[in-house]
Amino acid sequence: MHQLCSNSLFFSTHSSSRYSVAALLGAIETDPRLLDLEIRAPTNLTNDDIRKSVEKGQTIIAHSVMSTQTERIFEEVRRIREKFGKQVTIVGGGPHASARPKDLFLSGFDYAVIGEGENTFPELVDALLSGKDPLKIQGVVGRSSEIWPRPQEIPIVDLDKYPPFAIGMNIVGPIEITRGCPFKCKFCCTPFLTGCKVRHRSVASVIKWLTAAVEKSGFTRAWFLSPNALSYGGKGMRAEPEKLESLLRESTKVEGLDEMFFGSFPSEVRPEFVTQPILEMLRSYVANTSVQIGLQSSSDRVLSLANRHHTVEQGMRAVRIALDSDFTPHVDMIFGLPGETKKELRDSIELCYTLVEMGAKTHGHVFMPLPGSVYEEMPPGELDSESRRRLGELSRRKEMTGSWSAQERLAEFLWTQNKKSKKKDGPC
Ligand code: SF4
Repeated sequence: MHQLCSNSLFFSTHSSSRYSVAALLGAIETDPRLLDLEIRAPTNLTNDDIRKSVEKGQTIIAHSVMSTQTERIFEEVRRIREKFGKQVTIVGGGPHASARPKDLFLSGFDYAVIGEGENTFPELVDALLSGKDPLKIQGVVGRSSEIWPRPQEIPIVDLDKYPPFAIGMNIVGPIEITRGCPFKCKFCCTPFLTGCKVRHRSVASVIKWLTAAVEKSGFTRAWFLSPNALSYGGKGMRAEPEKLESLLRESTKVEGLDEMFFGSFPSEVRPEFVTQPILEMLRSYVANTSVQIGLQSSSDRVLSLANRHHTVEQGMRAVRIALDSDFTPHVDMIFGLPGETKKELRDSIELCYTLVEMGAKTHGHVFMPLPGSVYEEMPPGELDSESRRRLGELSRRKEMTGSWSAQERLAEFLWTQNKKSKKKDGPC
């Protein structure tokens, strides 16, 4: 058997990272250097799978590591390392690899990819298979690295150069249309990970991949991914309605596509981008009956502390416009943001009740100190028993969704980890 045909890449997949895995596998499967590679994306990577692959040739195992998933992933990596030792190469990317690369090496990873992976990850796989030194690749670090770049120091990716998903493997999902965000909300790690410079996938590229997904994967519905969907086409600080309409108009023309979802989960819109004309235009193209609006707090003071750059009134105005335009606003709120008083927490929860009375739905989060965010060293968000009771009531009435209880535990976990990471900063 030809040696190259025997090499394997397992991209361990989990629901929390499926969109980024789809995009990275799209970059891998279309890379002409890697056509002979056997690629799999298991949700449950077994010792048996690895053993069979190791018997056949070189085996690379990849993880996209989110900071909220480190416990599970690091445990899996330790298990594999114990069982297979140096017979496998384990590489990690994603938010935690960019923010805390040294953590990955403590659990047994060999290499970490810092920053956006579409260019770096295939380079790394190619280097591993062809015997080149992976540490010469910009954005790849290992245990012995002396320089630990930040994602901003790695060249940004041109979305048009890469597929949004892996059509060959039939791993498809939303099309990422925008990357980067000029707003620097302190609770968010997007500006750290993808930079403040906004880039968009061109309309032509969106159409190309939508058409391919319809033809090859039987796509009948399309979703889009963006940090702020209504910012499409511009520099990110204000809407460009003509460019947005061009994307929607051309996308809905793709033959075989029955429905298009835009501005709803998994994307979000910033409140000050919501205007009546824009939502009316959206209404004429999209199938979604809701729009996802990030309001986050009932307090202008807390919003300002978090560098959110909009007011509560702008949020409420966006909600009213959405209702007038026949969309159900789904409003995101974060409880326990740094500096929030008990009264402000209660007021935010009461605002959720007001929103529900107006006809909106709410989505509740508890503040988590995400590595890479400005607030990464802040104490975790916490609810008191009365707040939990009020949120539970909304949830039972199906007026609020969200995993605030799990997030409270995760926030505590992240805070503890963040403190440990600070202490062990230095050579690993
Ligand atoms: S929360 Fe949204 S608007 Fe704020 S920095 Fe993150 S992506 Fe940008």
